[in-house]
Amino acid sequence: MCGIFGYSGNKNSNDLVFNGLKRLEYRGYDSWGIAVLDGNKIYQYKDIGLVKQNPKLKKLPKSNVGIGHTRWATHGGVTKTNAHPHISTNGDFTLVQNGMVENFDALKRELRKDGYKFESQTDTEVIVKIVERELKKNISFKKALMTAFKRLEGRNTVAVLDAKSNKIYAIKNGSPLVVGIAKDGIYLASDSLSFSPHTKKIIVLDDYDMVEIDGKDYVVSNIKDGKKKKPEIRTLKYQYEDIDKGKYPHFMLKEIVEQQRTILYATDYNEKELEPLVKQIRKSRKVYLLGAGTAGFAAGQIAFFLRTIAKVDAMEIKSYEFKSYLPVISSKDLIIAISQSGETADTIEPLEVFKKEGCKIASIVNMYGTTISRMSDYEYYTNAGPEICVASTKVFTAQSAWGYLLSMTLAGKYKTARSKLKKLTKSLDEMFSKKSFNYIKNKICKTLVDKEHFFILGKGENASIAYEGALKIKEISYKHVEGFSAGELKHGVIALIEKGTPVIGIIPSGEHMDDSKDLISGMEQVKARGALTIGIGASEYSGLEIFDYYISTPQINTLGSIANVIPFQLISYFLSVLLGNNIDKPRNLAKSVTVK
Ligand code: GLU
Repeated sequence: MCGIFGYSGNKNSNDLVFNGLKRLEYRGYDSWGIAVLDGNKIYQYKDIGLVKQNPKLKKLPKSNVGIGHTRWATHGGVTKTNAHPHISTNGDFTLVQNGMVENFDALKRELRKDGYKFESQTDTEVIVKIVERELKKNISFKKALMTAFKRLEGRNTVAVLDAKSNKIYAIKNGSPLVVGIAKDGIYLASDSLSFSPHTKKIIVLDDYDMVEIDGKDYVVSNIKDGKKKKPEIRTLKYQYEDIDKGKYPHFMLKEIVEQQRTILYATDYNEKELEPLVKQIRKSRKVYLLGAGTAGFAAGQIAFFLRTIAKVDAMEIKSYEFKSYLPVISSKDLIIAISQSGETADTIEPLEVFKKEGCKIASIVNMYGTTISRMSDYEYYTNAGPEICVASTKVFTAQSAWGYLLSMTLAGKYKTARSKLKKLTKSLDEMFSKKSFNYIKNKICKTLVDKEHFFILGKGENASIAYEGALKIKEISYKHVEGFSAGELKHGVIALIEKGTPVIGIIPSGEHMDDSKDLISGMEQVKARGALTIGIGASEYSGLEIFDYYISTPQINTLGSIANVIPFQLISYFLSVLLGNNIDKPRNLAKSVTVK
């Protein structure tokens, strides 16, 4: 949600900031703006809706220094006036903000008393006015900004373009901020992905860090003690050139097909790299997997692998439900946080609390240098590359596959795990064939298109898959879909089955789990009540009469569960195509849920 981008160097900042904002689009926003410097005058362009070119934007003077912002409104409606940057009264500096000033009311009242007038309804303009008031004391711009920032309550990150010094200043607290060091200049952004084509060298700022950027160089200091810092320069493992759809009509389909590779990237760890976490798990009394949304279901899947493969006492906690676990958690426990963005506010909050309790923290995150990975004693990355579609696909399977590798390593079966994972990805070919897409779109989805309520049944290794499958379809098709453990059927769900109600059953291979028997009998019971039945899973059941449709998936041990989620992603995709929905940016949702 919301993004900051800045650049100062010897290239054209107008284009760099514009393209940077486009790469931040996936985070979700409602309006945006760019400011550039020409001589010592600031020029701005703001708009609502998509980040797109406009003749007026083209008219901004070409510059080498600029900042930009994508806004996700918290204070004041979505208007051009409320969009950022917010320029000072005399035009000397302009500021963008991510977050919320919690003491906004009190500060605004105080400023009004001092005679300040406001053009926008934002909390951001309040920050601008406090800086202006400080500057009247004849202090440096840097000092004025630091003093103003210290008055803000809540999580806030700001970036400012100062015309007099020709510098960009930024202070971070809460929302992420990363500095990119390139040959052509210095970049500043909410994530490293947005400047990834330009550099692999990054610095991740800590809370209360201030960075001062002047085109060739940067200085980082801590605003609490005012001391300069020498932050660690990290090198990204992968560099992403273009973020485009390639030959695919939507990012979602591209990302679904990419899973053949990304499952392998996520599990590209040798035993030595996994060892510190393996040792910590062995030492820990209990392992809690923490996540929300899709990451919460990946947490459930990883906990399942840890229990069943490695005999580790592991369970998942939904991040937003952590409080009731506090009385039973101790410093002997390990928390493994699961997140795509690494910035999920719902997950950061419990991590802060658990850290204080003395728990060790590990994480598996897709984005680099994020708040969650920086809080972790053991940080791991899924390396699945940018996931642009708001609904997560490849990151779910990447996280789950990483959990499988970890569990197998704990069980002393690292090599077997690696070869099974390879086998799994190879055998996905068939699912991504024209024939399979055609069957899912034209047979299954065309039947589902005018249905409103769907039910999904899974069990054991497929319980979390049933929940995630339901979420996937919900997110983009806006249909009402519920995933259940098949065991729930007779305890209530069956009351909802009418003639034609779609029920999707996930059927594991009978070879490994006798859950398949329970699933088959559950599907028989719903069929007897007129349900439209779809099976997903082991091919040995594809010929059964109880199924109206069946999608066979490769069953390689318990890895079948990872393969089973893919048909749900494809159903979600093709169903939403038929419905004409906005696939990559479903309504009301944002990619990184950085607010509570
Ligand atoms: N609170 C600010 C506003 O509503 C910033 C929101 C954001 O992070 O984009 O404008």
